[in-house]
Amino acid sequence: MGNVLNYFGNMVQTKAEIIENRELLPATYYQLSLKVQRIAQVSKPGQFLHIKVNQGIFPLLRRPFSIHRVRRENVDLLYKIRGKGTKILSRRKRGQYLDLIGPLGKGYKLPDKGVRIILVAGGIGVASLYFLAEELTQRSLPYITLIGGKKSEDILCRDEFKQLGGVVKISTEDGSLGRKGLVTDLLQELLPTPHCYLRLWSDGNA
Ligand SMILES: Cc1cc2nc3c(=O)[nH]c(=O)nc-3n(C[C@H](O)[C@H](O)[C@H](O)COP(=O)(O)OP(=O)(O)OC[C@H]3O[C@@H](n4cnc5c(N)ncnc54)[C@H](O)[C@@H]3O)c2cc1C
Repeated sequence: MGNVLNYFGNMVQTKAEIIENRELLPATYYQLSLKVQRIAQVSKPGQFLHIKVNQGIFPLLRRPFSIHRVRRENVDLLYKIRGKGTKILSRRKRGQYLDLIGPLGKGYKLPDKGVRIILVAGGIGVASLYFLAEELTQRSLPYITLIGGKKSEDILCRDEFKQLGGVVKISTEDGSLGRKGLVTDLLQELLPTPHCYLRLWSDGNA
């Protein structure tokens, strides 16, 4: 199929076309959309892609990024610039191709009905939890989303989570948005009685 270089069961190594590489916060957060139909068809929440960010030899190793969202034949990623690899990735342009392997990982185990679900995201951790929230919404499984960050600019996807219809609570360490404090403070308030069965999904620095 198209640009697929290798097949390993559901997983492929392929060249994916960049549809968009959008800066969400200057030199910090980006949203990358890739046209990669075969991966879009089989991906599950909690899985990730292993991306060769450059065409040349540096950096040698691929970088892992969670699947944030799947839209028809496109897969979206959300990433934060940390070092050289993510900086190079942020400079890649629409129409260029990225060599990647995926989907990797087993994905999140989905809960049974009747379990209280809390999604806890620290900063860029919203990336994989949004895909999970979409899946829970489709299955009519209620959940609460807690998103925490250092400051308001670090709170990503708040509106997207709200549009899914669930309860969304925010905390920032400097108090610039939502409750002042850590996302784990919000969680503490929701902690159940000893007889309640709770399932928690957490990603990022939560
Ligand atoms: C399964 C998996 C899924 C991931 N999903 C995402 C995602 O959806 N979005 C995203 O932005 N990132 C995600 N990451 C983290 C991402 O892979 C790294 O941020 C990236 O590889 C850094 O590459 P770099 O070359 O820019 O930084 P490097 O040059 O490798 O590192 C630069 C500096 O940043 C530090 N650093 C590197 N990674 C992290 C990290 N994760 N947290 C804190 N400090 C770090 C290093 O210790 C070093 O000091 C994921 C990681 C894993 C293992």
